[in-house]
Amino acid sequence: MNQCGLCERQLEHGYLCPGDVLALAERLQRLPALFIELGLYLAPTGRPAAERVTTSHATPPLPLNEVVLDLRHGGIALVLESWRSDIQSARGWGEPAITGGLDYRVMHACRWIGMQLEWLAANYPGAGDLAREVRELEGNALSIIGGKKDRGRPIGQCVSVDSSGVVCGATLRHREGQTSVVCDWCQCVYKGEQDLLLLLHYQPREATDA
Ligand SMILES: [Zn+2]
Ligand SMILES: [Zn+2]
Repeated sequence: MNQCGLCERQLEHGYLCPGDVLALAERLQRLPALFIELGLYLAPTGRPAAERVTTSHATPPLPLNEVVLDLRHGGIALVLESWRSDIQSARGWGEPAITGGLDYRVMHACRWIGMQLEWLAANYPGAGDLAREVRELEGNALSIIGGKKDRGRPIGQCVSVDSSGVVCGATLRHREGQTSVVCDWCQCVYKGEQDLLLLLHYQPREATDA
């Protein structure tokens, strides 16, 4: 009896369960587009970098977002390529040739690994670790781009009061790169340090589980 390397489900044979093979296949399909989109988030505010072209030369250049930089220039391409290299040697094939720009390299590695999934699930003990790393890469990219999976970090309850004196109380969430927080429920906007300090000040002492 084997175990799925990701979810630890018992398997009759192989190293990755069918559900996790499918999830990995879908992630490998999504990742190249996410990677390209990530390039637009190199500016620290999460504003597409292209917008900066129009700003005057008097404005000092913004520092690059290091997290994005890591993902773009180390992270994703190198991780995928080192997996590919390991798989190739496990199959007794030579080292892959690395060519092209980063976007192309990521697309190529994703596509190549995607075509090996059947073999990987059946024969490759590292399949679970590979699936886990691809899931992490996607999670990191989505935490910057703000995909559906990133609902943000809960930072407290909305303290806005409506005309009848009722406090909103909805959970507020902050997403990486956001400079303001908008209540999903009442649309109240908290922007800047003053607002956020006020928000913290008026938090209920014992947060009743909302
Ligand atoms: Zn599994
Ligand atoms: Zn609210």
